[in-house]
Amino acid sequence: MRKPVVAIDGPAGSGKGTIARLLADRLGFAYLDTGILYRAVAYINVGDRNLSTLSISDLLSIPESDLRTDEISAKASEIAKLPNIREILTKLQREFVANPGEGSEGSVLDGRDIATVVVPGADYKIFVTADLEVRAKRRFDALKQANPQITYDEIYQSLAARDEQDRTRKIAPLVFTDDYVLIDTTNDSIEESLEKVARVVEKGKFSK
Ligand code: C5P
Repeated sequence: MRKPVVAIDGPAGSGKGTIARLLADRLGFAYLDTGILYRAVAYINVGDRNLSTLSISDLLSIPESDLRTDEISAKASEIAKLPNIREILTKLQREFVANPGEGSEGSVLDGRDIATVVVPGADYKIFVTADLEVRAKRRFDALKQANPQITYDEIYQSLAARDEQDRTRKIAPLVFTDDYVLIDTTNDSIEESLEKVARVVEKGKFSK
C-alpha cells in the first residue's frame, strides 16, 4: 500500500515551498519540491537529450542558487507547457511517491498539478495562495540582496506573466478545485500558515 501523500499546490511566491518543507520535517515525511525539477530541466537545456535518461537525483544535484533566478523561472514555465517534459517529470514524481525512502512515513510534494494530475488520490490536498502584490514583495525581499539591480516592478511583471502562463496552459494548469483546502497567506506569516496546514493534516489520520 502506498504511504500517505500531502499535495500542496499554488502560485509562485505563495509560501507553499516553505510550508511544504517544514510540514514534511514535522511529520517525518520525505519532501519533493517539484518546481525544482522543472527549473533543472530548463537549466540543462535538454534539447535533443534523451529525456528518459533523466533521474530525480541528477536533477536535484544542480546547485539551487543556479536554479532560483528570474531567468530560469521564466524558462521553467515555458518548458512546463511541453507534453514530453511533463510526462517524464510526472513519472519521476510518482516514483518518488511510491518509494519516498525507508525512513519516511509518507511524502509531501509541492507544485502546480500535484493534486490534480500527479497524485489525484493524495490524502490531503492543500492550495496555498496570496495576493500578487504580497507575493511579489516577498520574492523581491528574497532576491534583492543577491541581485541589487532587481526592481519590485520587474518581479511583479514576471510573477504575473508566470501566473497567467501556468493557469492557462493546456496540460496540467494550476487550477483550484473543490477538493482542495484553501490557505490564503496574504495576511498571515508563513509560520501562521504552516500551523493552519498542520492542523488540517494532523486532524486526520496522521495525528500523533
Ligand atoms: O514552483 P516553482 O516556481 O519553482 O516552479 C517553476 C515553474 O515550474 C512554474 O512556474 C511552473 O511553470 C512549473 N511547474 C509546473 N508543475 C509543477 C511545478 C512547477 O508546471 N508541479
